[in-house]
Amino acid sequence: MDRKKYHRHSFFTLLHHYIDAMTVLTEKLYEKDPYLFEFTALVIGMKGDLIELDRTAFYPGGGGQDSDRGELEDLAVVDVRYLDGALVHKVPGHGFLLGMNVRGVVSKERRLDLMKGHTGEHMLFAALNRMVPDLELVKISITPEKKSFLVKGALNWNIILDAEKLVNEAIGQGIGIDDVMVDRKDPLISQSRIKLERIPGDLIRLVRIGEFDLAACAGVHVRNTTDIDMLLVEKLTSARPHGDFEVEFLVGRRAILRSLQLSSWAIQASDLIGSHPEDLLNALRNLKAEMVRDQDALRQTAKTVMAGLVPETISGVPIYRSVFQGVDRKTLSEEATRKVSDGRSICIFADEGEKRSLVIAIGNQLDIDANQLLQKTLLPHGGRGGGNKNFATGGTNISVKGESLLESVLIEIRSLLEK
Ligand SMILES: [Zn+2]
Repeated sequence: MDRKKYHRHSFFTLLHHYIDAMTVLTEKLYEKDPYLFEFTALVIGMKGDLIELDRTAFYPGGGGQDSDRGELEDLAVVDVRYLDGALVHKVPGHGFLLGMNVRGVVSKERRLDLMKGHTGEHMLFAALNRMVPDLELVKISITPEKKSFLVKGALNWNIILDAEKLVNEAIGQGIGIDDVMVDRKDPLISQSRIKLERIPGDLIRLVRIGEFDLAACAGVHVRNTTDIDMLLVEKLTSARPHGDFEVEFLVGRRAILRSLQLSSWAIQASDLIGSHPEDLLNALRNLKAEMVRDQDALRQTAKTVMAGLVPETISGVPIYRSVFQGVDRKTLSEEATRKVSDGRSICIFADEGEKRSLVIAIGNQLDIDANQLLQKTLLPHGGRGGGNKNFATGGTNISVKGESLLESVLIEIRSLLEK
C-alpha cells in the first residue's frame, strides 16, 4: 500500500502526513455497526473527486455485494471502493478541504436490501450445501437489481424448494448473527465454510448465523435472520461455462410480493386448465405431450392430402394448391418442393393456423419468379417473407383468408402463363 503516492497531488500533504504518521487508517464503522447510517468524519485524503475519511459507515463493497451510496455533506456519493489500499468515496464536485469535518449519510433502504440479500445468500447456499455436499460456490452478485450466485454441482427445483423451506424456517426463528475474529489455527475454522488459501493475513473474520451457518466473510450482514423477512428463489438457470447453475433469489418485501403474484398465476393457470394447483405441473406436461401428438397427426393427415392433390392445368403447367389448418411451415415447404421436383410444376400452399403462411414453389424449368409472386401477394396485406426464383415463403395477418391468398397468386400466374 502506497499512501504517499495516492496523496501525491494533495494540497494539504502536511496535514495528511501528520495524520499518516499517527498511522490512521479508515475506521470501518460498518463492521462494528451495520445499522449505522449517519456519522461524522474527518477528511484525511483527497484526489480529485475521491475522498478518504478517518472513519466511515460506507461499505466499499466486497464478497459480491455492491458498495454503498448516500451523501457526504448533502453531496452524492456515487461510488465507494478501495484504491491503492485506501478506502475512497467518490463525491463529484465537492469543495472539501483536508482536515474538514463532514457528515455522512448512507442510503438506508439500499444498504438494508443489500444486507438482507447478502445474509440470504449465506443462508441459501448453506441450506443447498447440506443437500448437495459437493456444491461449490463460484461467484456471488448482490446488487439492488439482482441477487444471485453461481454454483458448480447438481441442482434442481426439488432441492431448491427444500432449501427454501429450511431458510425461511430459520428466518422465522429469529436467529442472531454475529462475527468473530479467529486465528488461522482456531478449531472454529474447520467447522466453517472457508477457502483459506484465498484469505491473506492471520486473523480471519467468521460470520456466524447461530447453528445454521459459519462462513468466512468480511461483508456486512443483518443482525437477526427475521430482518430478511423472506427468501424466494426466482430463477435457476444454466451458467455454463463458469458454473453449472445460477440461482437468482429475492429477499424482503419483494420476495413476499413476488411469491403472492406467482401463486396467483399458478392458481389461475390451474383453473384455466381444470386442475388442482398441486396437479398443475403434471397436467401441463400431459397437455404438452398431447399437443405434440396432435401436431404429428395433423402433419400426417396433411401429407396424405398433399399426396392426393390433383393439379389444375393452366397453359400446360400443372398447378397444385391447397389450404391447410395448423400445419407447420417446414412440412409445407418440404412437400411443396417435392411437388415441383419435376421442374415443370407449380405448388402453392397456404395455412390458416395461428399464423397465416404462404408457400410458393416453382419448377426450375419455368420462367416465373417465386419470390416476386410472394412479395406481390403479401404486400397489400402487410405481410412479409422472402426466398428465391424457385421457392419463397412468408406470412401475413390472420384476418386474410388462405383461399384468397391462393387466388391472388393464381391470377398472377395465369397472366404470366397466358402472355
Ligand atoms: Zn457475508
